[in-house]
Formats: sequence, structure tokens, C-alpha cells
Amino acid sequence: MKATIWAGRNKVEVTEVPDPSILNSRDAIVKITSTAICGSDLHLVDGYVPTMQKGDIMGHEFMGEVVEVGPGVSPAKLAVGDRVVVPFPIACGGCSACLAELWSCCENSNPNAGLAEKTFGHPVAGIFGYSHLTGGFAGGQAEYARVPFADVGPLKIESDLADEQVLFLSDILPTGYMGAEMCNIRPGDVVAVWGAGPVGQFAMDSARVLGAEKVIAIDKESYRLKMAEQAGHLTINFSDVDVRSQLLELTGGRGPDHCIDAVGMEATHGSTHINTYDRVKQATRSESERPHALRQAIMSCRSGGTVSVIGVYGGFLDKFPSGAWMNRSITLRTGQCHVHRYMRPLLERIERGELNPTRIITHQLPLEQAPHGYEIFKNKQDNCEKVVLKT
Ligand code: NAD
Ligand code: ZN
Ligand code: ZN
Repeated sequence: MKATIWAGRNKVEVTEVPDPSILNSRDAIVKITSTAICGSDLHLVDGYVPTMQKGDIMGHEFMGEVVEVGPGVSPAKLAVGDRVVVPFPIACGGCSACLAELWSCCENSNPNAGLAEKTFGHPVAGIFGYSHLTGGFAGGQAEYARVPFADVGPLKIESDLADEQVLFLSDILPTGYMGAEMCNIRPGDVVAVWGAGPVGQFAMDSARVLGAEKVIAIDKESYRLKMAEQAGHLTINFSDVDVRSQLLELTGGRGPDHCIDAVGMEATHGSTHINTYDRVKQATRSESERPHALRQAIMSCRSGGTVSVIGVYGGFLDKFPSGAWMNRSITLRTGQCHVHRYMRPLLERIERGELNPTRIITHQLPLEQAPHGYEIFKNKQDNCEKVVLKT
């Protein structure tokens, strides 16, 4: 089959690889119809999330048709011919984390748990196509994928919704939604979202659905801010103005009630000296993050507010504003998304027309053009917001 592989730092290729096969009784094989490139893939491509190996198949946002199931999957749960969206965390459904609905912390799905434990203190779930820290599983930017614990994760799509309307239930729609949900938004609240990428856009839409009165998008890419504006959100371009002052101005001097970091470890910053400081520390591997958005979110948030972090961080960060966080009673919440929790309720919101995930798709390309898709998504060329790859 054809698959998109990691071919070294800043290099992805589409190449022929062996087809996957059933390895465990609860596996299924999915023939992929649509798959997408995520901001998280960019951290792998440029090597900031470590432990990728040449030939690893990329991709964790995919859907398609079940073509084979293992003997341990009951036909009532999943059968050949079912159309499914697959959540990016791999979860067993039976461990204490899964029973607590902390699906991305599953204790049974990561064969490299020891490696993750060294980095994170405790192991984390396996993730498709997301480095050997999270299991080294083959990803879904390919024609087929093996899906472990197939009786737990995949969501059957039984209506005639197009792939494009449901594909993002695999990751970014639940992720954006969880980012907003972690804020415990009350009617009238103001929510600021750092990052107007795909995840940020869905965090903004979700904040509004959950009752926010005002949602403010922060980015430097004017075409991405325009997209947020067209969806009814306010915008701040951080290349033009000081973000904190602008936020204070928009909130009567108090700061936003909640701040969502949808940027993560590769934030850029208008002021060159802090940017250079982080870049040098990151490049020399003495800091794994460039946490500028997170610092700014904490400094800008109103006292007693929430800073909800859905941008990915990988290791250790520097100059964390612990004084602001502690003295002003700020709640920090975060997590790799517990996608399984949100798939069905969000499918219902899509069916009711409360959320329109297709609004962010700017490019549909054949799988063979994945390298071009990575190029334009990473470099923000051709007004690229989200690339869907078709097999
Ligand atoms: P993306 O790279 O397209 O978007 C990031 C955006 O942040 C870009 O538009 C960029 O211009 C902007 N940005 C950079 N520095 C900024 C700053 N200082 N202030 C404000 N904006 C800034 O990626 P995406 O697909 O939207 O993903 C966003 C983040 O979410 C990534 O870190 C990704 O890894 C993470 N993610 C997390 C989960 C999860 O489960 N928690 C799931 C999916 C993605
Ligand atoms: Zn993703
Ligand atoms: Zn589990």
C-alpha cells in the first residue's frame, strides 16, 4: 500500500510499504478514505517531539471502512463494512484510566510505556503515527491502518454525512472542544484563544457553543484571523499590537475569564530577544519548548480564571510565570484529548448543525501529494489552514 513516512528531519515521503495485518484478536484493519495533517505532525516532522524513526508511517486523523476484524471483536461492536472514524489515542477500555474516561492516559496500549515513563514520569497511551514514545504505531496517512482495541475506539457513522463533516472527530474537534470545556465557561464569559490554526478555530467555536459571550482569536497569520472573524470571533494580530494590553482593553482592564493555549511548543514571538532565548535553548536541547503563548496566556488571564492548554508540550520549559499563576489563583488545565469521551456528543452537535467542522478545510489533495500538503501547512502558504488527504 501507499503511505506517508517520516524520512528524516523535515522530510516526509509517500512510498510503498507492506499492508498491515491483524496482530491481536481485538484488532481491525481499516481501508482509509480520508485522513488529515495536524499541527502535532509538524512537531514530529521537525524533530521537536523525539523518537521518530526513518520509515515510520505518519498520521493520526483518519476514517474509512472496516475490511477485516480479529476474532476478539464482537460483531455487535464492529463488523466488516462499517464506516468508522478512529480516535487518535489507542485505549483498551478496561484499565483504571480508561474506566475514568482518561482515554489518552490508557495504561495498556503503549508497548513503549517504559520510554514514556522516563520522559513523563508515568506512561501514556499509544497514539497512531506519533513517535515511539507513544508506541511506534503505524499511522493513518496511508491506504490502510491496523486499529488495536477496535471494539473500543472507532465510532460508526451510520448517517450519510460526508467524510469531511466527521473526519475531525478523530482529533481536532474533540481537542478544541475539550480546551473550551476545561474552562467551565459561564454565560457572559470572555475567552481568548492563542493560535488560529485548526485546533484553535474549533476551540473558539466550542467556547461559543458552551456559552461564551466574546471569543478572541490571537495569531499573526492574517488569513487565519480572517477565517476566525468570518466565524464571528474577534481577533488580535500579535505582530501589530501588544496582546496583553489589547486583551485588557477588550475586557474592561480585568483580562479574559479564560485563556486557551492552542499553540504549544513551537510558539513564535514578536519580541526578538525572548524568541532568540527560547530558540537557542530549544536548538541546544536545554529546553524542549518555546512556551511563549502559554506565558502570555497566564499573564493576561484575569485573577481566578482558567488557562486551558491543548497545544502540545514535550518536555521541559523555562521562565514559567509561577508567581502570576500562584498569586492570582489561576487554574491550569491540560491533556492530550480524551477523544473517545467526545466523539458521540460532538457527532450529535454536527448533526444538529451547531458545529460546522468543514469550515476550516482549505485543501483536499490526493495522498500522493502529502509532502506538498505538509509544505504548505507548515509554511502557511496558499492560505493553508487544514489539509485533507484522499486515498
Ligand atoms: P497549527 O500549527 O496549524 O496552529 C498553530 C497556530 O499558532 C499557527 O496559526 C501559528 O501562527 C500560531 N502561533 C504561533 N505562535 C503564536 C503565539 N505566540 N501566539 C498566538 N498564536 C501563535 O496547529 P494546529 O493543528 O491548530 O494545532 C495546534 C496545537 O494543538 C499544536 O501544538 C498541536 O500539536 C496541538 N494539538 C493537541 C492535541 C491534544 O490532544 N491536546 C490534539 C491536536 C493538536
Ligand atoms: Zn492531531
Ligand atoms: Zn486502558
